[in-house]
Amino acid sequence: MAGVRSKHTTPELAVRKLAHKLGYRFRLHRRDLPGSPDLVFPKHRVVVQVNGCFWHGHDGCRHAATPSSNVEFWRKKIDANRARDARTTTELTGMGWTVLIVWGCEIRDEVALVSRLRAAMPS
Ligand SMILES: [Zn+2]
Repeated sequence: MAGVRSKHTTPELAVRKLAHKLGYRFRLHRRDLPGSPDLVFPKHRVVVQVNGCFWHGHDGCRHAATPSSNVEFWRKKIDANRARDARTTTELTGMGWTVLIVWGCEIRDEVALVSRLRAAMPS
């Protein structure tokens, strides 16, 4: 089940670009942290996970609709991803990291994204 989270996806690139524009320094996919988070902001002890709505089961999101065939298969897969996401978040939080989840569908609202990043990382 490892490696389901795909790296360097378009939403992830969008978040990187934005964080860069805001002047935050970050590292990518630090393997020494649980779940090797997509973006790691060491100075603020913040990690950002960019989750695809489908793979990570974004609640109530139209992009997260289960395909009409192999329903059971997809449900199990996505449930497993969600369980792992929750575990990773708990571990990171326990280590003192703030975990910010950005969903694929939230990328387009740049204003909202900027204020979330700013709120998580007061300068
Ligand atoms: Zn979504």
